[in-house]
Amino acid sequence: MTELELISQEISTCTKCALCKSATQAVPGSGNPNAKIVFIGEAPGFYEDQEGIPFVGRSGKLLDFMLGQIKLSRNDVWIGNIIKHRPPENRDPSPDEIQICKPFLTRQLEVINPKIIITLGRFSMNYFLPNATISIAHGKTHQVGKFVIYPLYHPAAGLRNPSMKVQLIEDFLKIPDIIEKTNLI
Ligand code: URA
Repeated sequence: MTELELISQEISTCTKCALCKSATQAVPGSGNPNAKIVFIGEAPGFYEDQEGIPFVGRSGKLLDFMLGQIKLSRNDVWIGNIIKHRPPENRDPSPDEIQICKPFLTRQLEVINPKIIITLGRFSMNYFLPNATISIAHGKTHQVGKFVIYPLYHPAAGLRNPSMKVQLIEDFLKIPDIIEKTNLI
């Protein structure tokens, strides 16, 4: 078993917070374990909870569409979340739940060792940039330790708000440039 698989197994049996009681299953993350680019969302929703895979619902369809626009697929990247079990009714994760779940993502990122981390929404942005505001930080790169952090609006926000969707897609289309500048190709 690889280190990443071992972490997934630990996540699947984690009972450190109450979310495991209401969730169907954990959603540890999926994709290329050697990816140089990772996407980090907030928490599983209804469909992710059913399937055990991140971003398979409506937000995921938008993410897949945008990946296609820049000629990337899920096999090229790794996708994960801050919170590994679905919060009931898709409510925001609590500060305690984030605190408890965070070490899993830290370990996953240590093992994958990506160059670029694209955060989706404010919760995952604040994991790397605790004081940032998404309306200001989105669409700009931020060096945090060895990682290039690129915050984007959450696809769900884009689905709710047409002008945010336009901004999200505009920011997303800058990813190839960032890849080039980070010397990944
Ligand atoms: N929203 C997220 O933040 N993550 C998912 O996996 C699905 C929807």
